[in-house]
Parts: sequence; structure tokens; C-alpha cells
Amino acid sequence: MKAEIIAVGSELLTPDRLDTNSLFLTEELNKLGIEVLRKTIVGDNSEELSDAFAGALKRVELVISCGGLGPTADDLTRETVADLLGRKLQRDDRILHAIETRFRSLRREMPEINVRQAMVPEGAEVLDNARGTAPGLWIEQGDRVIVLLPGVPKEMRGLFEEAIAPRLARRATGLQLFHRELRVTGLGESHVEQRIAPVYTRYKDVHTTVLSAPGEVQVHLRFWSDDPQQANKTLDEIERGFDIALTDRIFSRDGQALHEVVARELALNNTTIAVAESCTGGLLSQRLTSIAGSSSFFLGGVVCYSNERKTAWADVPPELIATKGAVSPEVAVALADGIRRRVGSALGVGVTGIAGPGGGSEEKPVGTVHIALAHTAGVAERALTLPGDRDAVRWQASQVALDMVRIYLLYGASDGKLSSKAQGRSSKKSTF
Ligand code: AMP
Ligand code: MG
Repeated sequence: MKAEIIAVGSELLTPDRLDTNSLFLTEELNKLGIEVLRKTIVGDNSEELSDAFAGALKRVELVISCGGLGPTADDLTRETVADLLGRKLQRDDRILHAIETRFRSLRREMPEINVRQAMVPEGAEVLDNARGTAPGLWIEQGDRVIVLLPGVPKEMRGLFEEAIAPRLARRATGLQLFHRELRVTGLGESHVEQRIAPVYTRYKDVHTTVLSAPGEVQVHLRFWSDDPQQANKTLDEIERGFDIALTDRIFSRDGQALHEVVARELALNNTTIAVAESCTGGLLSQRLTSIAGSSSFFLGGVVCYSNERKTAWADVPPELIATKGAVSPEVAVALADGIRRRVGSALGVGVTGIAGPGGGSEEKPVGTVHIALAHTAGVAERALTLPGDRDAVRWQASQVALDMVRIYLLYGASDGKLSSKAQGRSSKKSTF
């Protein structure tokens, strides 16, 4: 079955309110094997509303709307849909009684305008709303189903779960949505696309989306099928293709964020970590400690913004800062190594950079970030030029730092990328 969602409310067409109901509805419909083909947002205007319903009813068997069932004059969904379907509105005394009772229990008088909420298009099934005054309505017209739900998210969700989902489940065809999500870091959106397109374009029935997020790229596979075994086999095959194309750039397959993956690996490997951050201002510490149980691997972190604090808290030699500059590979390495020794952790991370918007120069533009990972066998360092504004630079820096820890835990110090020593190391410049 295919569906469309219509979100009704003029406030949803302003910058102040977001249509969040349709996200919930889409997820729930997908679980029931119903694909959402279109979402429409319309204001409280009967002509627009009528147009939206008429269009949707031409295209799909199921049309679900939310909003516009209130008692005020701008709530037009009931009247408009009745009109469009050529049905009269009739007063339902059972609903009226329920609304009156609800007001009485709140020790209030029911305003006359609430009578409108008891008006029902003839032939509609009334779905009781235990959380508010506007009932939901289930209307069948030929082979089409029209569901009208209130806009208040709590009421909409309750009605969907209690009344709509069971009714739709009875009509289920066996079709299900199979979904996979891979997350990738260290490669841009177009590079990911270039590498995986030869794989996924061979599977016409699988819908592949490449989504760019700050410091990572998400690859979603969606496959509608009534054969779970075949669907999983196909998705496994594509995933194996992606593994070859993206190698260790894939960090998560279950929707986990990079810091969650790294936290899990640190805990599993019994590896402790400490961090000395400059431009990320504690973001790395924050992300690592946002995980329950982080005390088993995170020993501590300092935010050493001034040169003097880099020396006082992470033992960075003042001469090094004076000769190389605070934003330099050498200082990143000294921060990582210094904090590791100070704290006595297995790993030490140092981050220094220019997050902007000010502070850049021709030699060291905004976005210049140096990150080092010190471990028992030496130190790895990366030089980056990160795009975007201050927030983006800081976030991406934290992603790269976390990814360096992940790669270390994956390969150990034996990996070529990580075995370079603090001194005499050639710093590889890369653009993230
Ligand atoms: P209504 O049923 O149109 O009177 O809507 C009642 C309230 O529900 C509105 O004032 C909004 O705050 C909220 N609302 C309506 N539609 C949505 C939606 N699509 N997503 C999130 N909130 C909504
Ligand atoms: Mg409204």
C-alpha cells in the first residue's frame, strides 16, 4: 500500500513551527509495510486543503492528514473533506457527550464552538481521542482510505497507535521495508558516491541515498520486499560491495555515532585515554564522556587555550610554541604526548587549530587543525584544512580525532599511518 501525508496548519508554513508529525507517521507507516510517496503541508485554507486531498486521492490508496480538527473557525479539515467526498456533516451526539464530560471533569463549561468537533462526515468511523477533544476519523471511499487525525503531537500519536495502526495492519500485504545504514568518515560525499555507485546501481529495486552530515557521510539502503530472506541476501551482497569500496572508512552499521563506536572499542580493549584540547574547547571530552560507563576508559581532559596553559597542563615546551607556533604539528604532538604522560593513560590526544572566523593567516588559514594521537609505541599526527564555520571546524576536528583513535584500535601501532615517531616525522597534509 502507498500513502501520502497531509500536514494541515498555517503555522507550519512559518519559520516558527516544524511539521514533526509526518516524521512519526512515516516511520510508523513504514513499519506496517506502507511506503510514503509524498508529504504536503497546507495552511488553514479550504481551497488549498481540498486541492491537496484531491491530488493525493488520485495517486494513492491511503491519505492521512493531521491538524485542522480543532474547534475554531480556522480548523477546516472536517468540512473540506466532507465537501470533497460529497458527504454531509452530521452531529454525533456520542462525541458531543464525550466532549461535555471532558470539560466537566476539568470543572469547565463547554464553549459552544466545541460542537463543531462533534460534526462527522456521514459514514465516517469515529476514533475516540482519550487525550483531547477532537476525535480522529476513518473514512473509506471506494478503494481509498482517508484518515483525519488531530495536530497535537501527543493526541496524533496516541490515536495512531491505538486505532489506526491495528486497522492498517489488518490490510497489510506482507510487504516490508528493509533498511540498512552505513556511516563513513574521512571521505567526502562525492568520493563516497564515486566508490559505491558501481555497486548499488546494479540493484534497481534497492533505493540508495548518500547523505552528507558534518564530518561524516551516511549511506542508506531501503528495499521494499515481501521476502525477508531474499531481501537480506540482497542487502548483504550490496554491503559486501560497499566494504570493498570503502574499506575501513565505514565506522558504523547500526546508526551509532563515531564517539559511541570509539567508546565501545576503548572499553572492549581496556584502553585508557586522556585529551588536551585547544580549538575544540572540550568537545572531544564532552563526546567521549557522553557515553554511560565512560569512566572505565576516559581518565581526564584539559582545555588549554592559552600558550601558558599548554605548558602548565600538558608540558608543552615554551620554546616549541615560540619557534613553531601554537597551531603546529609539533605542538599537537607535544600536547598528546604531554597529557598521556601526565595522566598515565595508554592514549593521549592533542588538538590545536584555528576554528575561525578570525585568527587565520595566509600560511595558517581558518580551518587549519593539527591532531596528534600518542600511544606507547610513538605518535601519529594529522594536518587538516577543514571547511565551514567555527562549529563545523570544531565538530570535524573532533571527528578526525575520534577516527584516529578508532583506526589505532583497529590496527594497533603497526599500521603505517600511525607508526611515525614524534621527531623526524613527515606530516601528511590532507583535506578532510
Ligand atoms: P490543530 O489540530 O490544527 O488545532 O493543531 C494543534 C496544534 O498541534 C498546533 O498548534 C501545533 O502546535 C500542533 N501541530 C499541528 N500540526 C503539527 C505537525 N504536523 N507537526 C507538529 N505539530 C503540529
Ligand atoms: Mg491548526
